Amino acid sequence: MVNFRQISESFETAVENREFSVYFQPQFNHSTGALIGAEALVRWISPKHGFISPADFVPALEEMGLIPVLDLYVFDCVCDFLKKCIDSGKALARISVNMSRNDILCEDYIDRLDAIRQKYGVPTRLIHVELTETAAVSGANVVVSAIKKLHDLGYTVEMDDFGSGYSSLNILKDIEFDVLKLDLKFIEGAIGSERGGTILSSVVRMAKWLKLPVIAEGVETVEQADFLKSVGCDYIQGFLYSKPIPATEYEKLLSGKSIGTMVPQMNIDQFIDAGRFWNPTSIETLIFSNFVGAAAIIEVNNDFSSIDILRVNQKYVRELGMNLSERDIISIKPYDTLDGDSKEIYKATLEKVASTREEQECETWRNISSDCCGTEKVCVRSSIQLIGESKVSRLLYVMIRNITSEKQTQQDFVRREENFKAAVEQANMFLWEYTIATKEMRPCFRCQRELGLPPLIRNYPEPLIESGLFPADYADMYRDWMRQIDNGLKSIEGVIPLTASRIPFHVRYTTEYDEIGRPVKAYGSATLVVDK
Ligand code: C2E
Ligand code: MG
Ligand code: MG
Repeated sequence: MVNFRQISESFETAVENREFSVYFQPQFNHSTGALIGAEALVRWISPKHGFISPADFVPALEEMGLIPVLDLYVFDCVCDFLKKCIDSGKALARISVNMSRNDILCEDYIDRLDAIRQKYGVPTRLIHVELTETAAVSGANVVVSAIKKLHDLGYTVEMDDFGSGYSSLNILKDIEFDVLKLDLKFIEGAIGSERGGTILSSVVRMAKWLKLPVIAEGVETVEQADFLKSVGCDYIQGFLYSKPIPATEYEKLLSGKSIGTMVPQMNIDQFIDAGRFWNPTSIETLIFSNFVGAAAIIEVNNDFSSIDILRVNQKYVRELGMNLSERDIISIKPYDTLDGDSKEIYKATLEKVASTREEQECETWRNISSDCCGTEKVCVRSSIQLIGESKVSRLLYVMIRNITSEKQTQQDFVRREENFKAAVEQANMFLWEYTIATKEMRPCFRCQRELGLPPLIRNYPEPLIESGLFPADYADMYRDWMRQIDNGLKSIEGVIPLTASRIPFHVRYTTEYDEIGRPVKAYGSATLVVDK
C-alpha cells in the first residue's frame, strides 16, 4: 500500500507517463441481457509501486486538490474511446464518468470538461456524469448550479452510491439527478433479510415514482440480481456480469452484444408530478391532505397477489376509525384483512382497473384490528383508479368510504322484513301500515304478492277504491273509517267484502300515537272470514 507522500510525489510523472489507464465496467439490463453502457474506472499501474487501487489514491488526490487533473485525463480517454467507436461504426453505448467533490469546487471544471468533449465531437447523450451522494451534500448551492450547468449542456447526471450517506432522500428533493446508482454494499444484508429487502424495494419504488431509472452496482450473485428484478430494478453493474475490463476487451463486448437504453421504470400519469407529490410542502400534498376525501395510494404487484399501502391522508385515518394511526394503516397488508369473498371481489376489481384503465368501485368487508378496539368487521366502499405502471407493479389511487353502519342498518332491515314476512305467512293475514300525515299505505309482502299491490300507495284509500279492491258500495264507509283514524280514533273493525269477488274479510285498525298523543300511524290487518 502506498502512502500519501508517495502518491503526491509520483502523481505528476505518472500522468506524463500515462501510467493511468481507464477500465470499463459494463452494465446490463438483467431482464433482456442487453448491454446498456459502462462506467469508466481509473487504474494506476505504477512501475514503482505496482497496482494502486483507486480506493487508495482517489481520496488522497482529492485531498491534495489534484483530482480534477486526473478526472479530465480520464474524461479525455473516454471521449477518445467514444470517438473511435463512432468513427469505426461500432455500436454506441453511453459511458459514465466519475466526478469528485473537488471537481465541482474547481470553478472552470465543467467548461474544461465540455471543451474536451467538443474537441472529440462526441454527443453529450453518450456521456453520463456520476456524482456521489456525499459529494452532493457539500455546499448544496455549488452542486445545484454545477448540475444545472451539466444539464444545460445535455449531460445526464447519476447519483452514485445512493444510500451511503445519511440524507440521501433530502438530496433527491433538492438536486435533480437523472439516474440513481444504488450500491449493494451500502445496504448491509440488503437481500435475504426482511428489513434490508424492504429498504431496497422502498428505494426502488421511490425512484420509480420520481421517474428515475435505478442501476444497482456491486451485484455479485444471481439471487441478488433476481431480487432486484423482482422489485423493478433491471439495470445491473457488478462482478456477476463482469469486472471492470480494459478498453480492448470492452470493445469486443460492444461488437457482440445487443445494446439497450435506460428508461424510467414506471410511467406515471402526466397529471401527477410525483416529485411534488412526495414533497410535504407542495400543493399536491396540500390537496391530498386537505381537499380530497379519504384517499390512499397503493402499489399492487403484477399478478395482483400482494398490495402495499404507500400513503394515506388524515381523512382516510378518520374514516377507518378504531383509533388507528397513519403508521398502523400503512403496515396493514390489505389482503390479510379481507375475508374469502371480499378478497376475490377486491382482487377482481384491481384486475378490472388494470384492464379497463378506468375507475372501478367495490364493497368489501375487512377485519381490522387495533389496540383499543380489538378486531372489528368494517365494510369499505372503494373507488380505485390507475395512476402508474411499471413492469412489476401498478400504482393506484383509492378513495374509500366506511359504510359499515349503512350496511348494518340495511342488513337489520332485511332481517326484520324477513321475520315479518314469515310471521305474516304463518298468521294467514294481510297486513299494512298507514301513515296518517302523508296518507301513505305500505302493504305487506302477501298483499303485494296476492293482491298485486305496489309497495307504496299514496292518497290512501282512493287508489284501492278506484281499482275495485274496495267495492263501490263500501267506499264511503271506508273513507269514513280513515277520517276517524286521521282524527285519532284508537281502533276500529268490521267485515268488508273485498275484491270484485266480494270475499268477506275481517278488517281491523289499531292506531299509534306520538308522545303528545297525536295519531301517527295505524296498523291494518285483514283476515278471511271463515264460515263456521
Ligand atoms: P464507484 O464509482 O462507486 O465505483 C464502483 C466500484 O465498485 C469500483 O471500484 C468497482 O470496481 C467496484 N465494483 C464493481 N462491481 C463490484 C462487485 O460486484 N463487487 C464489489 N465488491 N465491487 C464492485 P474501484 O474501481 O476500485 O473504484 C472505487 C472508487 O474510486 C469508485 O467507486 C469511485 O468513487 C472512485 N473512482 C474510480 N475511478 C475514478 C475516477 O476516474 N475518478 C474519480 N473521481 N473517482 C474514481
Ligand atoms: Mg461511480
Ligand atoms: Mg458507486
